[in-house]
Amino acid sequence: IKKVMPIPKAHYGGRHTVTLLPGAGIGPELMAIVKEVFSYAGVPVDFEDIDIDPNADNNDDLNYAITSIRRNGVALKGNIETRSREVEVLSRNVALRNELDLYVNVLHCVSYPGVNSRQKDIDIVIVRQNTEGEYAMLEHESVDGVVESMKIITRSNSERLARYAFEYAKRNGRKKVTTVHKANIMKLSDGLFLETSKQVAKEYPDITHSDMIIDNTCMQLVSNPHQFDVILTTNLYGSIVSNVVCGLLGGAGLLSGKNFGDHYTVFEPGTRNTGAKIAGKNIANPIAMLNAAVDMLRHLGHRHHATIIQNAINKTINAGVHTRDLGGSATSREVVDSIMKHIKIAVN
Ligand code: ADP
Ligand code: MG
Repeated sequence: IKKVMPIPKAHYGGRHTVTLLPGAGIGPELMAIVKEVFSYAGVPVDFEDIDIDPNADNNDDLNYAITSIRRNGVALKGNIETRSREVEVLSRNVALRNELDLYVNVLHCVSYPGVNSRQKDIDIVIVRQNTEGEYAMLEHESVDGVVESMKIITRSNSERLARYAFEYAKRNGRKKVTTVHKANIMKLSDGLFLETSKQVAKEYPDITHSDMIIDNTCMQLVSNPHQFDVILTTNLYGSIVSNVVCGLLGGAGLLSGKNFGDHYTVFEPGTRNTGAKIAGKNIANPIAMLNAAVDMLRHLGHRHHATIIQNAINKTINAGVHTRDLGGSATSREVVDSIMKHIKIAVN
């Protein structure tokens, strides 16, 4: 088995340099918060900021960002906007993941006891294919009024993704992996994804493997989410399922997601929203981006700082300092001030 955890690269004199892609909407204000919290907690990480012009009609900015991530090995990102409708101007978010071969997206969805959510005590891990499927970006209008969009499923990507899911389950004491698909309709593509996961499952006799159709999965997630442990799924279904689970736990502002390949790692909020309507109003929930930043610190081996910030986040949430999306009335600033107060208590 190939080692999945990539090795961070840019590491000079005890400090790490990581690529920072603020993106659009609430991205820049959330990144400013991450920088403020990092500097307050004395985190030895430097950022290489890269702005991508949403109106650009070429891929130069995107290529520069990719070069930077190749150099640093690690990035923290907000959702990047692509305004151009030209097919040759790629969706930056998708192109970045595809170019860097970040083939797996992992979302660990755990309930916060202090959040008044629709479902309690959820602990589900979503392992999502991150580079192909419906996101292959192969669309064309064959004749006027007829568009073809190709969904690509490969055995090699399905296999390494399934292996990632089962290895994750094994390493983290998980009992069950459920492959989520639509192989009853998409017999060849989802059929291959499902068959491959069944093959890989045979190598892990201690882990129960089952499968479920995407439609039923959405219904089951809403009505009886506690039956799920690890979910293994394709790109588009993974996007939908992640949003359903995040919604059950408290929405877009809480959870973080990780994008892994064999060489590079990109951290971002779990549901990848732009939040254009709430930008610049001091109301966005900063927790999802801060959780992504904490994930990044763990990945870089800065465990001490990760724990301090994580504890400060948890204390803030459990004390009921909640932004509007969680039913509270706190501003982004008040949440950050509370987190910094707890950091101060911890380091003194
Ligand atoms: P997308 O970028 O996928 O179109 P949106 O930006 O429309 O998604 O976000 C979906 C919903 O989640 C919106 O109602 C948005 O206000 C909300 N949302 C996203 N991120 C946050 C956040 N950090 N804090 C509070 N609400 C958020
Ligand atoms: Mg939107």
